[in-house]
Amino acid sequence: MTANVTVYCSSSNNAPGEYFSAAEHIGQGLARRNIGLVYGGGKVGLMGCIADAVMRNGGTARGIIPRFLEQRELAHHGLSELHIVETMHERKMMLAEWGDAFLVLPGGFGTIDELMEAITWKHLGHHKKPILLLNINGFWDPLTGFFREIASQKMASPDYAKHYTVCSSADEVLGLLDALPASV
Ligand code: AMP
Repeated sequence: MTANVTVYCSSSNNAPGEYFSAAEHIGQGLARRNIGLVYGGGKVGLMGCIADAVMRNGGTARGIIPRFLEQRELAHHGLSELHIVETMHERKMMLAEWGDAFLVLPGGFGTIDELMEAITWKHLGHHKKPILLLNINGFWDPLTGFFREIASQKMASPDYAKHYTVCSSADEVLGLLDALPASV
């Protein structure tokens, strides 16, 4: 079983309610499986929702937030650990290193940036960690369609698609996390 999963997701409080339900369900599922959450450390949006669900259900949540976002993303002071760092690069490095797998829920530009880094670094051979996309409501379809378009215009290898797994439900995500080895 996976020991820690790094979750990237929306910092918006206005995301659709269905996404909050999925984040809550996954947070509860992580806690029940004793899989630690590693995430961006905020209280806002799906980020805060999944962290709250982990903590409420007796799990472990570690957050990493840069000092300049402490107020804007309302650093979560009810976590197992909150790490305040100086730069986005430090945060991203710790987020990328501490998880045994990446899970990406719906999100905006920050989430997409983090997803791109996880995929491109895997392609470059910097890590071999699973990358799971929660494709609730087909949220990621336009982006994965664009990836196919890039490949069809020969600007990327179609191999990119093998670097991530698209999941259509929170339960599918939890089932895949159950099947992953503890350290990959
Ligand atoms: P968003 O998906 O835009 O709601 O952002 C989700 C998380 O990504 C938040 O914690 C943001 O601080 C973070 N974020 C925003 N922009 C970037 C970026 N360019 N690189 C890395 N993380 C970012």
